[in-house]
Amino acid sequence: MSEISNQIKLAARTEGLQTSEVSIGDSVTVGGKPVVVIGGPCTVENAEQMEIVATKLKGSVSAIRGGVHKPRTSPYAFQGMGEEGLDILNSMSQKHGLPTVTEVMSVEQIAACAEKADMLQVGSRNMQNFELLKALGKTTKPILLKRGLSATIEEMLLAAEYIMAHGNPNVVLCERGIRSFDTFTRNVLDLGAVVALKQLTHLPVIVDPSHAAGKRELIADLARAAVACGADGLIIECHPEPEKSVSDARQALSLEDMVELVESIKPIAAAIGRSVAGDVAKKRQITVVQGIGSQSAQRLTLRRKVARKAVRG
Ligand code: PEP
Ligand code: MN
Repeated sequence: MSEISNQIKLAARTEGLQTSEVSIGDSVTVGGKPVVVIGGPCTVENAEQMEIVATKLKGSVSAIRGGVHKPRTSPYAFQGMGEEGLDILNSMSQKHGLPTVTEVMSVEQIAACAEKADMLQVGSRNMQNFELLKALGKTTKPILLKRGLSATIEEMLLAAEYIMAHGNPNVVLCERGIRSFDTFTRNVLDLGAVVALKQLTHLPVIVDPSHAAGKRELIADLARAAVACGADGLIIECHPEPEKSVSDARQALSLEDMVELVESIKPIAAAIGRSVAGDVAKKRQITVVQGIGSQSAQRLTLRRKVARKAVRG
């Protein structure tokens, strides 16, 4: 068994460091006591779909997800609505006051997504797209970094380190299942990695049981297990008409099941001294180092300086 690399300078949870709090928009914080739930469709399909999603999930989830640039396995599959989809996401967010999460697949997509969405997702397939990570490091947006299809925990932490070393400390890690020999589930949800990451890094860690399981009937139980083992949040796919989802239909929950799932994690969160964040979280301005002692904050600042110097060479 290997120990973790000493190259993880900024993301490491050194003694005294509490979990960093990362803001999504101006009302939601990941990494504090409340467990944050992000819900929504795999893909933004049209304005009506997003309106129904927001109306039904408001009060249950803290943020809405929806891809407009989709990393599809086949080049012939729908690739996402692009900027038109971003506008839909943005108007839904303005109207309902719900922050949004969307994926960026290339450096060119960053500016528009950063302008119109609240959190930028790096999908599994791009976890080691180092140019993308560096460019995201130059933004101030919170980044949702998903674990690569077969990335080790260390590789994931080093990917986070890229973003942080280039100047953006606002990284949230996401375990979304890894490739294994068994194809019954789409991937294997690695809850061991969640527990390990919580010990290795001060960055918040959330879980995506949708892409891990690939089957809707497995998702609620996996979500509850994720909360029980210390995840700081969940990101889950759901759709007004799950079977009609243009992508990932087999794993999409109905909106009713999504609301029920959020209710069902509340006692689990309470049992481990946490709560579940609603969409009406108080408006708070939070920086990533808030909540840690001043000595730890100083140490973190120093490490950031050292790492930036190293990056500049
Ligand atoms: C997604 O979130 O829709 C997605 C494509 O996720 P992943 O990169 O984890 O496969
Ligand atoms: Mn998906």
